[in-house]
Amino acid sequence: MITNQEVCVTGASGFIAAHIVSELLIKGYRVRGTVRKSPENYPFLLSLPGAKERLQLITADLGRAGAYDRAVAGCQYVMHTASPYEINVKNPQTDLVDPAVNGTESVLESCMKAASVKRVIFTSSIAAITDEPDNKTVFTEKEWNTMSSLDRNPYHYSKTLAELAAWDFIMKRKPAFDLVAINPFMVIGPSLSPGLNTTNKIIRDIMTGVYPGIMDINWGFVDVRDVAKAHILAMETAEASGRYLCAAESMQMRELVALLKSSGFSNYPLPKLDFSGSAGTLLMKVLSYTQPKHTGKYIRTNIGRTMRYDNSKIRRELGISFMDIKKSILETVQDLLKWGHLPKK
Ligand code: NAP
Repeated sequence: MITNQEVCVTGASGFIAAHIVSELLIKGYRVRGTVRKSPENYPFLLSLPGAKERLQLITADLGRAGAYDRAVAGCQYVMHTASPYEINVKNPQTDLVDPAVNGTESVLESCMKAASVKRVIFTSSIAAITDEPDNKTVFTEKEWNTMSSLDRNPYHYSKTLAELAAWDFIMKRKPAFDLVAINPFMVIGPSLSPGLNTTNKIIRDIMTGVYPGIMDINWGFVDVRDVAKAHILAMETAEASGRYLCAAESMQMRELVALLKSSGFSNYPLPKLDFSGSAGTLLMKVLSYTQPKHTGKYIRTNIGRTMRYDNSKIRRELGISFMDIKKSILETVQDLLKWGHLPKK
């Protein structure tokens, strides 16, 4: 059913945002997507079902004050997904923190000017909850990452500061709209765009010999289609409030490699050596110093630790049921092959 309700999605070209745009169009919403280049650069968005009639692409950059005024004016809802998602950057302040934080404030300022906005859904991250699992804590929406800095997991730092800035804006400026944050873990799944997302790249790297061996590391995965659904449910559910930790299931690297091996991909250079014991973890920590600086830090703060978390709030309050993560991983591999990110064997 076509509705007159209009939703602005910032960073519409992104891996997660493109799925949000697609789902909104399917549901009959009018969508304004913000992008950095001129609209003709995004044929994968302009060709989505319903896009011709109901998608408008508007150029905006997180670094320019007032850049989002036109994009959000008249919209009832705003999904703020745009933020740099990179682990190794030259200058963490200007490459990550400034666009994440100033961009968030700029988008919220524009929403304040546009009296039409009722709710902003902010794409935060597990990174704003913790950057260092400790085997004991069962992480929920109540925890905040207090450990990251410009020097230690700066991407995590940028997401934490951006989410804090968003809540601070709501508290101090008391706008007419409310804010709901979605905090996804590692988002994988088929991509609507030709680019390779930072998280899907981990699966590609595991299959192309980048990892020297199997490490004692685990990830909480969630399918990108579920993350898009979570954003839309957070928008449509009047009672939704606060933060929502969005992760389906955790998987050890060892289980992931075994799944790939038993699913017809054993001819890829999957990691064979097992470094998942305590001696292996120690060795991997030493070897992590040979990696790019921020990858090394990420390894050292995550290896040998199991991330435990509770996803009951999102299941209970938004009624979401997550896709089977094994299915999602295998569909990710098929998608990597489809886009040519992974060689066919
Ligand atoms: P992505 O594909 O890299 O998308 C990021 C989007 O932000 C792109 O549209 C990008 O535009 C835009 N962007 C980056 N810097 C910008 C700037 N200075 N001005 C305007 N737009 C800018 O990443 P994603 O995985 O979809 O991430 C989307 C959001 O989800 C981010 O906030 C990320 O932190 C969060 N998240 C992602 C994951 C995950 O595993 N993927 C997990 C948790 C949270 P261009 O296309 O022009 O670069």
